[in-house]
Amino acid sequence: MNNEQAAQWMRQTAKMLAEHKDELSKLDQAVGDGDHGVNMERGFRAVMEGLDEWQDLALSQLMQKIGSTLVSNVGGASGPLYGTAFMRLGSAWKEVDHVDGPAWVSGMAKAVEGIAQRGKTQAGEGTLLDVWSPVAAMFDENEPDWKKIEDTAKKGMKETENMVVKKGRGALLGEETVGHVDPGAVSSFYLFQALANTMN
Ligand code: ADP
Ligand code: MG
Ligand code: MG
Repeated sequence: MNNEQAAQWMRQTAKMLAEHKDELSKLDQAVGDGDHGVNMERGFRAVMEGLDEWQDLALSQLMQKIGSTLVSNVGGASGPLYGTAFMRLGSAWKEVDHVDGPAWVSGMAKAVEGIAQRGKTQAGEGTLLDVWSPVAAMFDENEPDWKKIEDTAKKGMKETENMVVKKGRGALLGEETVGHVDPGAVSSFYLFQALANTMN
């Protein structure tokens, strides 16, 4: 992935999150406060607005800008989590101008570690990490298999339906969250679907 593809990834993500805004908020009505679609749409619209200005930045700096923009514009608990993930990609890719298999491995490992620290969470607690974590594990030294990565994101998203949510607002509902897919896992699926679309 180069700078132009990273920008394209963000445009695709913004488009998909805008299209699925109501769906994401509706999912969040069941397990949270019903604003996840609004939060994500607002955050990625701010990223879109910054992209032209950031086009000459190194890939690492571009990821940092995306991360800090998400932290300040998403608004919900998801903002600092997505923001940290992108800022970690940025710090992992300091010397990188083309992200290959090994760079994805190190970047995604850092991103997952950042989400886990920030959210005081681990995989299996019914959050967006249940998409990020298995997706991170799919990268290796080879060129990424984008179809496989998209399928893994989808599987991770679906698996949150059977989980008792342990972190975030959903945790207040305990067992009642079983039968509901996690909204942050769904927005993360769209993010990785947009990545796969861009890179294919
Ligand atoms: P809020 O809950 O503040 O309204 P959002 O609705 O935008 O924020 O985001 C909710 C999503 O954020 C959840 O579906 C979940 O995936 C994620 N989330 C919330 N808290 C945590 C946490 N501590 N660790 C990991 N993910 C979390
Ligand atoms: Mg919410
Ligand atoms: Mg909220």
